[in-house]
Parts: sequence; C-alpha cells; structure tokens
Amino acid sequence: MNAPLTPLTIAGGGIGGLSTALALAKHGLTARVLERGGFAEELGAGIQLGANAFRRLEMLGVRDAIEAKAVYPEALHIFDAYSGKRLKRLPFGKAYEQRYGVPYVAMRRADLAKILYGACRAEAGIELHDHFNIANVWEEDDRIVLQGPWEEQTELLIGADGLWSNVRKAIAPTSHLVFTGHTAARTMLAAKNLPAPFDAPVVTLWLGRGSHLVTYPVAKGEALNIVFASHGGRPHEGWNAEASAEDVVQGAVQWHDDARDLLDLPTLWRQWSLYRLHGLRRWTRERVALLGDAAHPVLPFMAQGAALAIEDAVALADALSESPDAPARAISHYEAMRRVRAARVTRQSARLGRIYHLGQPFAAARNLAISKQSPEKALGQFDWLYGA
Ligand SMILES: Cc1cc2nc3c(=O)[nH]c(=O)nc-3n(C[C@H](O)[C@H](O)[C@H](O)COP(=O)(O)OP(=O)(O)OC[C@H]3O[C@@H](n4cnc5c(N)ncnc54)[C@H](O)[C@@H]3O)c2cc1C
Repeated sequence: MNAPLTPLTIAGGGIGGLSTALALAKHGLTARVLERGGFAEELGAGIQLGANAFRRLEMLGVRDAIEAKAVYPEALHIFDAYSGKRLKRLPFGKAYEQRYGVPYVAMRRADLAKILYGACRAEAGIELHDHFNIANVWEEDDRIVLQGPWEEQTELLIGADGLWSNVRKAIAPTSHLVFTGHTAARTMLAAKNLPAPFDAPVVTLWLGRGSHLVTYPVAKGEALNIVFASHGGRPHEGWNAEASAEDVVQGAVQWHDDARDLLDLPTLWRQWSLYRLHGLRRWTRERVALLGDAAHPVLPFMAQGAALAIEDAVALADALSESPDAPARAISHYEAMRRVRAARVTRQSARLGRIYHLGQPFAAARNLAISKQSPEKALGQFDWLYGA
C-alpha cells in the first residue's frame, strides 16, 4: 500500500535543510526533514558567518542563541606566509557592523547546527527524522518516491543533501563532481597559551604558494579554528578523513616560524577534498528543488557555502509562501532568483583562491596591492556580498 503523501519533504538536515524548515515554519508552512545521520552531529570545525548569513539567521529567530555562542572577530589580519609580514589589518567589529547593520561572527559549526535543530524542534509544523538515508529518488505519477530504510512519498522534495547529493544524482544523472586538486585540512586547538599572533581575537589569513592558512577564534574565544588548504592530496568523499600532521605541514615547509609554530601544535587533523560541480543545467524540476551545496558547491575561499545555503532557504520559503497553490512555479521562481548570485559567489571564490595561491613574481605584486588598498576600499569591494 502506498504511504500517504506529505506536502513537503527536505532531504538532509544540515545547515541548509534545517534553515529551510525553519524559514517555511516562519511562513506557517509545514515540512518534514529526513537526515541520514543524527541531527547536529557536526564534528570539530568552525564557521564564519558574514552579514548576509547573519541577517537571515536573525529573520529565522535565532539571533540571541547565536550571540550566546559566537565570537565577534575585531579584524582580519593578512600575512605573507614566508616573511611573516602583516600585509593588512582590515577592521571588522564596529566598522563592519556599522556598514552592514549586523556583525561578522565566527562560531563552532556544531553550535550553529544545535541552534537550528533546537529552533526546528520548537516548531509544531516541522517533523524531524534522523537515520533516514535517502538512497534513491524517483518520480511516479504526481509524486516523488524516496527510498530509504522504508519508502516515503512526497508532493514536493527539497534536496538539501549536500555536495554528494543523491537527489541531484536522481534529477541530473549526468552532472558530476570534479576534484579541483586542492585539499583542506582542519583542526581546533584550545585557546590557552597560543603563540602570537594567534592569541588575538582576529581572523588571520596567511598567503603561501599553492596554499593558505585561515585561523579564527570560536566558542567565545576558548578555541582556535584552523583551516589549511593546499594543492595536492588524493580525492576522497566525506568530511572527516584523518590526515597526518606531517602530511599537512609538508605544504608549509618554508613558511615563517610564526605560522609553523602554530601548525606544529595539532596532533589530529581532518581533511576533505575540494570539488567543482559540472553539468547541472537546472536546480529544479516540477516537484524537486536543490539548494545549498547540492545545487552549487562553492570553494571555501570566501567562507560563503553555508551562507548561500541559508540565503537559498529563505528565498525558497518566500517563493513557496507567495504561491502556495503553485509550487512548481514557486520553485522555478526561486531558481531564477538565486542562480545569478550563487554563480557570482562561486566564480569569485574560485578567483580569490587563485589570488591567495599565487607564486612569485605575481605574489609580490598581490602583496603590494593588498598593503596599499585602504581598509574602506578593501571592505567596500564586498558590499555586493555582505550587503544583500
Ligand atoms: C574548508 C571549508 C571551510 C568552510 N567554511 C565556511 C565558512 O566559514 N562559512 C560558510 O558559510 N561556509 C563555509 N564552508 C561551506 C559550508 O560548509 C557548506 O557550504 C555548507 O555546509 C553547505 O550546507 P548544506 O546544508 O547545503 O550541506 P551540508 O552541510 O553538507 O548538509 C547536508 C546534509 O544532508 C545529509 N545527507 C547527505 N546525504 C543524505 C542522504 N542520502 N539522505 C539523507 N540525508 C543526507 C548530510 O548528513 C548533511 O547533514 C566551508 C567549507 C569548507 C570545505
């Protein structure tokens, strides 16, 4: 016997999926979220949230909960990885908040996931099902069938199941991920006794040839999140493969001692491969819409992947609430609204990565340009991003 239809199902309860359920609930729309693992199970990693993400999280009613966990970095400090020279201090803090109306924050991903999960649980119109791995999806008459531990059906499916999306594979079987040749390694250290300049409440960015390092405080300043991205490594699926400390620091052998001293501290690193998505012509079909990494994975060089997923969530819920009786039209409108912006962020992230990783002589020209640019101009070039 067929299971009864439900109005809307979200595949994946990550940042994008939970934000979508919450955004729908704010419009009085109901949703069911099917997550293959447990909810809010993010392992040790940090996340930076620019004003565009923060503004929408505020709309979703979780500002206070975020403020209770977040760090407000005072500035971004950019260093040349070899000389250790600081090239620029870009003030965040008050200057950023005055410009964009909301702050720039950093926090543990696990805290953000728990906040979104808690807010979803408090909504009567959201059903949350964990350990439901959607292995296959197909269309049957006027419904979508989901094959998991058992079969479920839905009239409308939102694929928020991340980079390796099974929903995307079902609606666009020829789309495929291509390894960029870059690997990102992440770790977290307790903030006690950190060497300078990592003991300051700032984001640091170190530019090397074919590699870069980003650090920022999380957990109210009790821990430092570290991401080291470099050219090389073998492609693999998933977020949590262990990497040996020796392999990670190989990419920084000639770096300045300030950065090396930090990179030598962690004993456990986790790594993940960076991919581009090719061949996805549409994010939506009549009864299916993709969002977040499932629709448009971005390289992490602008720290915008989760922010875009949150933007998608709000845009999709707005579109569905405007045309509740015409969901196909609503999701098509959502795609039209979001494609240009997602493409711009994707392009700019890739471009920034190329700039970060320049070798000589181009690196010297880059460093000079960074040092000369006024903080006002440096931040102003991202108005299109954070101001939205
Ligand atoms: C090095 C690095 C640093 C980053 N830093 C930042 C940052 O500072 N700021 C920022 O905005 N972004 C950042 N990002 C990007 C961000 O992590 C992602 O873009 C974001 O997590 C995408 O959210 P999502 O909900 O689309 O996908 P995900 O977070 O991947 O969530 C997908 C969910 O779907 C579930 N799922 C998967 N398959 C199935 C299935 N078959 N059935 C059911 N459930 C399923 C998964 O378990 C998961 O919970 C970074 C990325 C990297 C690689």
